[in-house]
Amino acid sequence: MSKNVSETYPQNDPQIERFWDKVDVRSLAECWLWTAGKFAKGYGAFAYAGHRPGYAHRFSYLLHHGDIPEGALVMHSCDTPACVNPTHLRLGTAGDNARDSVSKGRWMTPARVAGLERSLAARMAALRDRYPPPVPEWMSKFE
Ligand SMILES: [Zn+2]
Repeated sequence: MSKNVSETYPQNDPQIERFWDKVDVRSLAECWLWTAGKFAKGYGAFAYAGHRPGYAHRFSYLLHHGDIPEGALVMHSCDTPACVNPTHLRLGTAGDNARDSVSKGRWMTPARVAGLERSLAARMAALRDRYPPPVPEWMSKFE
């Protein structure tokens, strides 16, 4: 059926590196604020590979949770438009179809949180390799 992007996370995609370069990554509990250009209401704007800029939080949702059903909105449980922390993003609705897909459990499962933590740990390790000490303070939160 529909492709789940999070299962095919392209680890070495330079566009994804570009995305992360614009995010203030913190612990999973905190908001990860978009530090680059924003749309009028404060939502992060990210242009993937020359495409028209789209919502950064939707890109983050696609990256970590997979597809966004037609017509569904990606909403913030933290009410922070600039936040792209995937654990703060959930599908919301303009209609019953999307609401239905939320109730069918597309939202973060414990396995997905565990997977995300693993991918974050790997990412932090890669960053540490690339940028030798001193390691930025925020990275230590993932050890
Ligand atoms: Zn948040």
